[in-house]
Amino acid sequence: AAEALPAENISADDIFIAVKTTKKFHQSRLNLLLDTWISRSMQQTYIFTDGEDEELKKRIGSHAINTNCSAAHSRQALSCKMAVEYDKFIESGKKWFCHVDDDNYVNVRTLVMHLSQFPHTQDMYIGKPSLDRPIEATERLGDNKMKPVNFWFATGGAGFCVSRGLALKMSPWASGGHFMNTAEKIRLPDDCTIGYIIESVLGVPLTRSNLFHSHLENLQQVSRSEINKQITLSYGMFENKSNIINLKGAFPVEEDPSRFKSVHCLLYPDTPWCPLQVAF
Ligand code: UDP
Ligand code: MN
Repeated sequence: AAEALPAENISADDIFIAVKTTKKFHQSRLNLLLDTWISRSMQQTYIFTDGEDEELKKRIGSHAINTNCSAAHSRQALSCKMAVEYDKFIESGKKWFCHVDDDNYVNVRTLVMHLSQFPHTQDMYIGKPSLDRPIEATERLGDNKMKPVNFWFATGGAGFCVSRGLALKMSPWASGGHFMNTAEKIRLPDDCTIGYIIESVLGVPLTRSNLFHSHLENLQQVSRSEINKQITLSYGMFENKSNIINLKGAFPVEEDPSRFKSVHCLLYPDTPWCPLQVAF
């Protein structure tokens, strides 16, 4: 089959990549991202956190955004961050909104190629469903009335993208303080709330992609030859065992437990701290 022709010639500058983090992960997680994929995508990447950090400001300047949201892992705190991400994206004027967590590696080249298949003016919601069926939730309608709702959502831990055309339609439920109210109406986390607004309220279906990866899946199944085709990767623990991609790369697991440094050297071998590659 022929490759899909690009619908639009977009560049990395047309994408707004929001990274959700929290102050306690600036050292342990964010620095790794700044050293790897973010170093090649400073102009596209915005970091949404919950505390001041002078070191972070030195590295990324105004792209470090203190949301002033609570640093708790509560539904409200996470929705508060997503609300700020949404508002900053709208303000940016960019064509695509992509959200990732601070344990995601983003292959920006592949992301650009993938999004080029779709016009940003169309309604597009792209990501990986975290369940194999729609989530069953209850919408609170006021005066104690409840309504069951079913919808698919893209798991935030794998990253997802929304076109500007669709993001603008989300505004009555997502902009300003509305996102937090919407999240309270269904009492679900931020990524579910995005799915609720898009699928349930606006009737736009999630476009599934297997190129987004969270640590909720077995990351061993991503093969080395396919790594450069993936849009996002992750790392983490699953049932008390480390869940990482299987890559015998530039660095041993002890030096690079997430494998992100090795992935980065595979994708950008000219990086100064990558071991010299022998050219054949
Ligand atoms: N996070 C946050 N506030 C917290 C805890 C976590 O903003 O109090 C962010 C974290 O930085 C990450 C995302 O939420 O981007 C998911 O957190 P984590 O990977 O620890 O948990 P998971 O849900 O993936 O198991
Ligand atoms: Mn995680």
